[in-house]
Amino acid sequence: HGEPVPGRSSRRRLTVVSGPSGVGKSSVVSELRRLDPDIYFSVSVTTRAPRPGEVDGAHYHFIDRAMFDKMVAAGELLEHAEFAGNCYGTPREPVERALAEGRQAVLEIELQGARQVRAAMPEARLVMLMPPSWEELVGRLTGRGTEEEAAVKARLAEAERELAAAGEFDVRVVNADVRTAAGQLLDLMNTDFESIREH
Ligand code: 5GP
Repeated sequence: HGEPVPGRSSRRRLTVVSGPSGVGKSSVVSELRRLDPDIYFSVSVTTRAPRPGEVDGAHYHFIDRAMFDKMVAAGELLEHAEFAGNCYGTPREPVERALAEGRQAVLEIELQGARQVRAAMPEARLVMLMPPSWEELVGRLTGRGTEEEAAVKARLAEAERELAAAGEFDVRVVNADVRTAAGQLLDLMNTDFESIREH
């Protein structure tokens, strides 16, 4: 334990990974976890029902709407958003603890949440994962088979909105190959943006 970490520089270790549903965010983030086990990966709360294979406390904390509203009211969420009919949010305390410990932290969240983080913590790095093409994204989303047709449609509509906002992000990484994309992400996280952003 040395000097307390100044807020600004610790916030620079926060990376937001966004991108349309189906772009492969979870796969890229899993690969990133494998590449650098020291990174803290935020576990969101959500009111969405678990998908087969999802583990409470690992993929998400699955909570009901009343609990979600309570956390929002108590200021316990760093950001939160409604997406395709469900609520999602980032518990604040574990992220702040990781940053205070000098660790890098990664949030995998959608666009509205990314904007809230940008507003609250301008030093955070915002990365948008992009599909190689729109057709590829539609194929991945329809082929996943875990969602009803209406849910797929809602996600495609959100995807179009997210991609239109790509210019708001500091960097765009195309996910044509999971390992390549994760490697690029890690390189970005280990690059000091100070010289770029502050001159
Ligand atoms: P899914 O239901 O497919 O797991 O997630 C739907 C979308 O919500 C994805 O784009 C995912 O990144 C995003 N998401 C997951 N957790 C959070 C969160 O805590 N906050 C926000 N704003 N979005 C989240």
